[in-house]
Amino acid sequence: MSVEPVAVEGFSGSLTAGVALEDGADVLLDELVALRRELHAVPEVGLDLPVTTGIVLGALEGLDLEVTTGTGSSWVAAVLRGAHPGPVVALRADTDALPITEDTGLGFASANGSMHACGHDLHTAALVGAARLLHAGRESLHGSVLLLFQPGEEGHGGARAMLAEGALEVAGPVSAAYALHVIADLPHGVVLTRPGPIMAAYTVLEVTVTGRGGHGGRPHEGLDSIPVAAQVVSALHTHVDRAFDAFDPVVLTVGEFHAGSAPNVVAERAVLRAGVRTFSEATTARVALELPRVAERVAAAFGATAEVVVREVMAPTVNDPASARVLAATATALFGPGRYAELANPRTGSEDFSEVLRRVPGAYGYLGAAAPGAVGPDRKPAGNHSPRAFFDDSLLGDAARLLAGLARHHLAPGGTAAGSAAGRPVSDTSADPAHAPDAATWPAHALDDPPDAAVRPVTSAVEPGDAPDAADRPVTGAVLEAPDAVPAAPAPQHPAPDRSPGGQP
Ligand SMILES: [Zn+2]
Ligand SMILES: [Zn+2]
Repeated sequence: MSVEPVAVEGFSGSLTAGVALEDGADVLLDELVALRRELHAVPEVGLDLPVTTGIVLGALEGLDLEVTTGTGSSWVAAVLRGAHPGPVVALRADTDALPITEDTGLGFASANGSMHACGHDLHTAALVGAARLLHAGRESLHGSVLLLFQPGEEGHGGARAMLAEGALEVAGPVSAAYALHVIADLPHGVVLTRPGPIMAAYTVLEVTVTGRGGHGGRPHEGLDSIPVAAQVVSALHTHVDRAFDAFDPVVLTVGEFHAGSAPNVVAERAVLRAGVRTFSEATTARVALELPRVAERVAAAFGATAEVVVREVMAPTVNDPASARVLAATATALFGPGRYAELANPRTGSEDFSEVLRRVPGAYGYLGAAAPGAVGPDRKPAGNHSPRAFFDDSLLGDAARLLAGLARHHLAPGGTAAGSAAGRPVSDTSADPAHAPDAATWPAHALDDPPDAAVRPVTSAVEPGDAPDAADRPVTGAVLEAPDAVPAAPAPQHPAPDRSPGGQP
């Protein structure tokens, strides 16, 4: 916490200017930046993050919280009790880093061979900031906030490990849950979310095709596993292409194919591994059931065998529509309509906050964290997971305010949505008048004037008759096709308070 803020090379903006925190907490931003940089310098990978946990616990010291720590992994759950009874809102930050050697040249860069290349250091610092803001205003809170610091998001099963130890129950039943993710190549300060699926499920298939080895000159005496496995690859693609709804898609990549040892030897065994992305629980379940069957039967047709191991790594991240609207409305109320946009499509990456959203309704959103002006038609900075990924930590104040604002929305006296999103299956994305947004909480616009083809008004793009979730969408908003498809960010005519000359929100 005593780390000096370090100048950011290539970043001309002020790290503290332009971000005003309520509750007289301007000074908080400096502390959050210092906290983030302290975390950034000592990244840890996986489920066991002792240094990170120590820093988090230190940063929460002095706050009146009920703190529980994990035994099987380094999660921290801190419960902030409001002055009045009410529901529980969970806010989650992931805390782990990646096995990447940092190449940013930043003064506070990691030198230990790992890197916070996905921005989880910002998530962690922002959640500490939200805790401070909410703590300062706890006299007005009707309910409790469950602050979850989760390790092992980067494919280590961190959410499942944390939830298996009961972290989600330590404050009582949770009625809504939220998480934010910073994105290094999205315009500075823009917030994005969408109702329904927002990130893909990730399933890994390992197929071992076994034939019979032999002499390459007499393949008829053996059973060549390579052409059989090639047929399996082809059949998997055909099945994905033909058997699944184009509007609930399956993205299959056979990323590994290993077989053979010499050109004059018939390979007895071929092993292929495929990654499959899906966007609903039902299609994820079908993939796990049908793709092994296709592989087994194709192999059998040639007299070979296929053994298939299916590993469901992550579930689809599915936003409860009402909660997504709360996120949109909160971002719009805090930052203005020019800094919120609805995503038209989910992203094809995966996220284990999905495990929380399987259990309680809630929403996940993105926060653009490129330096002001860094994203443009001819400029696309390094993205998350790059050794050169740069995240602008002057956004930490905004991230903390947004997280705190989400909790406050649910814990306000007579709050419109205290538990309004609760008690429904997450998969229920049907229009429901009972959950229609309060007009006062709707963002009037996502982006005032779509600046380019990537942003289009919903009203011109959605046919009410054939869009099953059309009723869940803000009809006056605009839709961003996908973060990756934002070449030009909102044009300069969309003012944002902290935009540099010529910059983009
Ligand atoms: Zn990541
Ligand atoms: Zn991440």
